[in-house]
Amino acid sequence: MAAESAAGHATGHGTGNGTGNDTGSAVNLGTPAVPGARSSGPGATTPRPDNPALIDTFGRVATDLRVSLTDKCNLRCSYCMPAEGLEWMPGDQVLSDDELVRLMDIAVGRLGVTDIRLTGGEPLLRPNLEELVARITSLEPRPRLSMTTNGIGFAKRAGAFAEAGLNRINVSLDSVNPETFERITRRDRLRHVLDGLAAAREAGLEPVKINAVLIRGENDHEATSLLRFALENGYHLRFIEQMPLDAQHGWDRANMITATEILDLLSTEFTLTPSPAERGGAPAERWLVDGGPAEVGVIPSVTRPFCAACERTRLTADGAVRSCLFSNDETDLRMLLRGGASDEDIANVWRDTMWGKLAGHEINEAGFAQPLRPMSSIGG
Ligand code: SAM
Ligand code: SF4
Repeated sequence: MAAESAAGHATGHGTGNGTGNDTGSAVNLGTPAVPGARSSGPGATTPRPDNPALIDTFGRVATDLRVSLTDKCNLRCSYCMPAEGLEWMPGDQVLSDDELVRLMDIAVGRLGVTDIRLTGGEPLLRPNLEELVARITSLEPRPRLSMTTNGIGFAKRAGAFAEAGLNRINVSLDSVNPETFERITRRDRLRHVLDGLAAAREAGLEPVKINAVLIRGENDHEATSLLRFALENGYHLRFIEQMPLDAQHGWDRANMITATEILDLLSTEFTLTPSPAERGGAPAERWLVDGGPAEVGVIPSVTRPFCAACERTRLTADGAVRSCLFSNDETDLRMLLRGGASDEDIANVWRDTMWGKLAGHEINEAGFAQPLRPMSSIGG
């Protein structure tokens, strides 16, 4: 397919909130799924109905919990954090395993969370992670458990994670060229990431997904080689539009490679047609490659926001609940945990936080303010 027609499909694809151009911001909130919730209007001014789930005033229900296990990382991806790293969270502020498990138990047992993804920072840096995974997968009802990781060190641990009940893994990989990889991540660790990917596949943690971010002038010329690599190895590749969440606040809209550009780059070598698969609350637009069954995903977080279908709630490593990656406020659960609050008290505070979830992330609105917490501290 020609690049142009791939882009044409892209603008008409997805949940119906695309605007047909790359700066669109319209958020079509659709029909509320929760009776009594309103379908438009800012913030939460109406009382929260008596509903155990994590509902918001726009009718969305959060069932997918992202948990950041640490803000530390052993890479320094240029779109995420500065070369010198960051001032990491003080250890006493980071939730213990017991505290994390208690919050996840509340999430699955009282709040209707069905899916948990472990992330960071780099989650593999968290000590005794295999044990924590086993504790999470023993919760009732048992959540589906996945992890987003840079893959470093995973090769030796893949079998243990599979045994502990981990279901799936996403590995971040922006280039299969060692020089490009080192320039972007500021570390010479490509081999370790590739070994981690292969081990995940061998351990049956499938589908093994790859997350890639394209940076103009850095790796955008490698979009097709990344897809070729993924196809050859049976990995599912998804490109993520770069978001204004870097710690150094260096994001520049003009420099971002848009979803449409990504599809055009891929279309120079592959034929892309929209996947018939249901997207649901998933962020990726999916495309069949050369007629399928192989697919590639594009996550157009900035240019075609999918906020209307968002099913996420987020917990940071220091115990803050956030209703959105881009929230400018968050709720501290650590104080409640350590102050003797009951499970139901904590559940209610979590419900209140999600009830106040805004319609969308507002990146495309005048006056958008990047959140104080960077991606590495919120958990991507
Ligand atoms: N360290 C792990 C990793 O890299 O997979 C987990 C945390 S990382 C913050 C989670 C995901 O966020 C990665 O796929 C990474 O590429 C992506 N990411 C980080 N900063 C981003 C940004 N500014 N825009 C878009 N994606 C970003
Ligand atoms: Fe680390 Fe992930 Fe950020 Fe890269 S994207 S610096 S691997 S937290």
